[in-house]
Amino acid sequence: MPEGDTVWRTARRLDEALGRRVLTRSDFRVPRFATTELAGRVVHEALSRGKHLLIRVDGSITVHTHLRMDGSWRIWPARRPPPRDHRVRLVLENADWQAVGYLLGVVEVLPTTLEDRAVGHLGPDLLGPDWDAAEAVRRLSGEPGRPVGEALLDQRKLAGIGNLYKCEALFVERTNPWTQVGNVADLRRLVVTAQRLMRVNRDHPEQSTTGMSGRGREHWVYRRAGSACRRCRTPIRHEIQGAAPYQRDTFWCPTCQPAR
Ligand SMILES: [Zn+2]
Repeated sequence: MPEGDTVWRTARRLDEALGRRVLTRSDFRVPRFATTELAGRVVHEALSRGKHLLIRVDGSITVHTHLRMDGSWRIWPARRPPPRDHRVRLVLENADWQAVGYLLGVVEVLPTTLEDRAVGHLGPDLLGPDWDAAEAVRRLSGEPGRPVGEALLDQRKLAGIGNLYKCEALFVERTNPWTQVGNVADLRRLVVTAQRLMRVNRDHPEQSTTGMSGRGREHWVYRRAGSACRRCRTPIRHEIQGAAPYQRDTFWCPTCQPAR
């Protein structure tokens, strides 16, 4: 599943291709909006809120999409027929660019004034201009008995974080994923670390949390089950955490991140 930094970059690419230009084509390939026509309207901007994408169009219209597990947007020069591919959910095109949304988990059109119906439940956006660490801590603290590895993924508490940054932030802060939120030594520090790790990767796709690049060197614990911890050489452990449908692979070092 794409993390918030991937979604942030997707929003920036959509904004660069579509923003402040007139749409020449819209092709919604989802039944509910099959007859929606946006050609002739100016796109004001595209932006991300957590892992949600909002494309704001003239006439107070917002196109709300979400990549969910497998979605992606691809952008290429216009003036070719849109792909006849059953995976395509939405095509937006102007005189210069064609943006094609594949396997989008959500495609809906709503009044811009009602965007809160789509994204109003979200906690502070880790990559948003209104990021608010204190509010994220307040929301997390509302469920002190919850394992922190689960709580960090709850988009109502802080928006944009996914499994990779959850695992890596917990390692950096030496926090066991099953520690209850109320027992985390410094919740603010953990949240700030998660934000910092995402922020440094916002502008490029490598997603390195160690500061190193190159295959197998980018992460502390994520997808390193059985490999030696980079701090203490203990083998990294892996387990599924959380109940369906929110089960996620969790990776941690039992020495650096002891249960408490
Ligand atoms: Zn270790």
